[in-house]
Amino acid sequence: ETKIIHLQDITMIEVYKQAKKDFVSNVSHELKTPLAVLKAVIETLENEDNPKNAGIFLEKAKNRIDQMDSLINDLLILAKLESKEENINKELVNLYNLVENIFEDLKHLTLDKKVSLINEVDKNLYINVDEQKFKILVKNLVENAIKYNKEYGKVIVKAKEKDNSFILSVKDTGIGIPKESLPLIFERFYRVDKSRSREVGGTGLGLSIVKHIAEAHKGKVWVESKIGEGSTFYVEIPK
Ligand code: ADP
Repeated sequence: ETKIIHLQDITMIEVYKQAKKDFVSNVSHELKTPLAVLKAVIETLENEDNPKNAGIFLEKAKNRIDQMDSLINDLLILAKLESKEENINKELVNLYNLVENIFEDLKHLTLDKKVSLINEVDKNLYINVDEQKFKILVKNLVENAIKYNKEYGKVIVKAKEKDNSFILSVKDTGIGIPKESLPLIFERFYRVDKSRSREVGGTGLGLSIVKHIAEAHKGKVWVESKIGEGSTFYVEIPK
């Protein structure tokens, strides 16, 4: 059997190889940074006689452990989704209640900037999705909408029914996304402005997980955004 390999295929293989290399080096880097901080904290504590100062260092250590923990969690979710070994177990889910649960889980993140969370989903809307995975999807979008918001900003979740699908939207009144970053934000590890993003914390994997979950439901995601005004993420899932 002869197989013809097209130039286009070779390019795709090279792109894939490079992406894999980048992925491994990104993960290594993202794990090494908090580890280095942990090591420095332990070394400082060894030489620290004043127990009052210890609390500050232990707090720093705890934050870095949380950071590694969420990275590893996100990696595990992503690995399962990408291997497609995970089945989609659809059931009828009340979207209003799902959004309320997520708001409850994320309330603590809104306190600093006094962001309000607004659920405008119809209380009678039931959608046919994998509840656990769809919750991860919506949670990631709402979390970003809070994290990248402004003081007294708003997060509004809505859903619209079409003939053969429904569209969920998560709108924020936050900082917005630069035009040149829009095609990249769903890529693994891509973060707009690393220094700004580091401040708010995150792994750069959230939107990649969102995209995978939407695609596992045969759906799609897109975003509209204006710098300084805010962003709206859309997820369309066929019925
Ligand atoms: P992260 O862990 O950095 O939040 P994501 O994959 O969830 O990773 O998002 C990728 C990048 O896209 C973020 O670092 C951020 O710069 C940008 N981004 C995502 N959501 C929003 C939003 N609602 N408003 C502004 N920027 C956003």
